[in-house]
Amino acid sequence: MLERKINETFGDDEPTGFGTGWWSGVLSAFFGILAFGAVVCLHFPQLLTSPELRPYYPMGVMRLLIQSLIVGAIVFGVASAILRRKKMLGLTGMLFAIAATLLGGASVQINEPLHDGPAIGLDWFLLDMLLMTLVYSPFEVLWPAYPKQGIFRNEWLLDVVYFLSTHLPIQITSFLILLPATQLTTFLGMPGLLAATGSLPWLVQFFLAILVADLAEYFIHRLFHSVPFLWRFHAIHHSSKALDWLAGSRSHLVDDVLVRGFILIPMMFAFSHGIIVAYLVFVTLHATWTHSNFRPTIEWLEPYLIFPRFHHWHHTSQKEAIDKNFAIHFPWIDKIFGTYYFPKDAWPERYGLDDEKIPGSFWAQAFYPFARRAVPAR
Ligand SMILES: [Zn+2]
Ligand SMILES: [Zn+2]
Repeated sequence: MLERKINETFGDDEPTGFGTGWWSGVLSAFFGILAFGAVVCLHFPQLLTSPELRPYYPMGVMRLLIQSLIVGAIVFGVASAILRRKKMLGLTGMLFAIAATLLGGASVQINEPLHDGPAIGLDWFLLDMLLMTLVYSPFEVLWPAYPKQGIFRNEWLLDVVYFLSTHLPIQITSFLILLPATQLTTFLGMPGLLAATGSLPWLVQFFLAILVADLAEYFIHRLFHSVPFLWRFHAIHHSSKALDWLAGSRSHLVDDVLVRGFILIPMMFAFSHGIIVAYLVFVTLHATWTHSNFRPTIEWLEPYLIFPRFHHWHHTSQKEAIDKNFAIHFPWIDKIFGTYYFPKDAWPERYGLDDEKIPGSFWAQAFYPFARRAVPAR
């Protein structure tokens, strides 16, 4: 398996703590690969960048970012090569950085006029990967709930593939997610309701939007657990044996599209475009965070807002917490519906599925729900 190969190639018996050259090697490889991907995007912008995002890119800042990634990959690569006996990680980062530079680096000009049309969202994948890693990984490294887990835990590469699978076809997935809501609101739009919510203060609208979304999420999420045919898809999300921010992206496309599409229906009836965009930013950050391997908490806030420990209990295979904690933002929604499980201070001991064997590869998981067999409902 590729993941084992990568771990064997880069892993060695030497310690991985600070000062051993391991972290600088990992950062060098990460920055090098990102920089290389970004320069490839500059060469093929029509094919590899999302038309929806292009207008928002401050190109000066993006070029500075690419240049910094190249420099970062080289500096960390050299540091790693000096500090570490095995040079593979640092060399990989430097090789990608040199390749990116040879291809023109950050100064590759975009000469062709770009037009709308089908494209692969490689830009979105690279940018979101960098952003999410910068936001979450430092917290997971500094204050982990499970210190032994590490970043390169079992199946990390599978989850990178899932992250790719939702970002590259961004045009198709966003079209499918928006389809039911746009169709319904076109024919059944309620301008009165929109005007009524629009007259409320921004913060109230934002809170109501989260509430409406989480109620919809609670309902459809519970349905995915109780209807055997839907569970086949959602079981993929529950197959993670260890959680971190990246594990949150493991989700079958059908699960992802149906859940997000369903949540957007009440949202588009009741809230303005600006509020919905604000909610989308919030849900991306919050839902990713609830999966993270991050221990600290604010105890007085826990009854009102979901912290990682709460959603981690949703992912346990321990019998006492099966089919509990369906909400993703407000834990009291589970309290109201009688599905709340939150033992004081405790974290789960086991994650994943005890009574169901899920195949290990992305494509096998993609076809898994369609295979004919008897599936036990949860
Ligand atoms: Zn679930
Ligand atoms: Zn989850």
